[in-house]
Amino acid sequence: MAKKMRAVQVPKAKGPLELVEREIPEPKPGWVRVKVEACGICHSDTLVKDGLWPGIQYPRIPGHEVIGVIDAVGPDVPDWKSGQRVGVGWHASNCGHCDPCRRGDFFACQVELLTTGISFDGGYAEYMVAPAKALASVPDNLNSVEDAPLMCAGITTFNALRNSGARAGDLVGVLGIGGLGHLGVQFAAKMGFNTVAIARGKDKEPLAKKLGAQHYIDSQSSDPAAELNKLGGAKVVIATVTNADAMAAVLGGLGPNGTLIVIGAAGPVSVDPVLLITGQRSLKGWYSGTSIDSQDTLKFSASNGVQSMNEIYPLERATEAYDRMMSGKARFRVVLQIGAKR
Ligand SMILES: [Zn+2]
Ligand SMILES: [Zn+2]
Repeated sequence: MAKKMRAVQVPKAKGPLELVEREIPEPKPGWVRVKVEACGICHSDTLVKDGLWPGIQYPRIPGHEVIGVIDAVGPDVPDWKSGQRVGVGWHASNCGHCDPCRRGDFFACQVELLTTGISFDGGYAEYMVAPAKALASVPDNLNSVEDAPLMCAGITTFNALRNSGARAGDLVGVLGIGGLGHLGVQFAAKMGFNTVAIARGKDKEPLAKKLGAQHYIDSQSSDPAAELNKLGGAKVVIATVTNADAMAAVLGGLGPNGTLIVIGAAGPVSVDPVLLITGQRSLKGWYSGTSIDSQDTLKFSASNGVQSMNEIYPLERATEAYDRMMSGKARFRVVLQIGAKR
């Protein structure tokens, strides 16, 4: 008889999170089984919970901010062994042979774009199976529980910043100091950018400075575009907020050829075309990245001391943990501790 594991699943679209016993899955060819040690709760898990992603098959176990240990290796997996520490993030697989894949645009794969916790069961469980392509090696000095959020919030900010075109010394803004932004400020500062944190109110200034920001703009008491221009205009601003007006308000603070990179999902952003034309400014989005980008994120974080600030819950309190994430009040990421010690 197959052994059982505890897992938290969404039984149907708009259903609750329910703690259940499930059979421990077996890895098929090209896949491995991971004994999960921790899994972060991400705002994107609402896509599963609320049935917002077309084609999800329920019941589904969410979770794409996973760190654990390989526990079984399926056939045809030459590069990974049982006992290796691995992370599993959002981007789990792509075909490698369609036109976008052949151009290196793996996020746009048209044939086999697999997303962890959406296309297959994710990390709100004691065990999960994942494609070997999804795995990122975890450095020894990272802690599974404390560092699980690097697998989504981390890679998303790190990879957007390092692909932004900004160079060391450039003025780079991080809009929003929350789950994504508190990591974005650390990455931007450690990458050598002249980092400016932008958030509502004065209260986040000390933390932003502690995380490495050279400047802080209170977008409530001042016009953030004007303040950015006083600093010379930003080469890049990464928008981590879920407020479209807050995004629109910084556009005019971009310098010539500056870019606002959207990584937080908001409603429609209204943009003055004159701002775009006269300054050759642009507005673009960034998809998180692949498993090697996650691995780079983990390595960079380990060597530069970038750390997520978390609230930790055990697996059986997943509902409370999820509600806490949804409240927007968590400081800053919410993580399910499943196997590992802190
Ligand atoms: Zn995520
Ligand atoms: Zn493809």
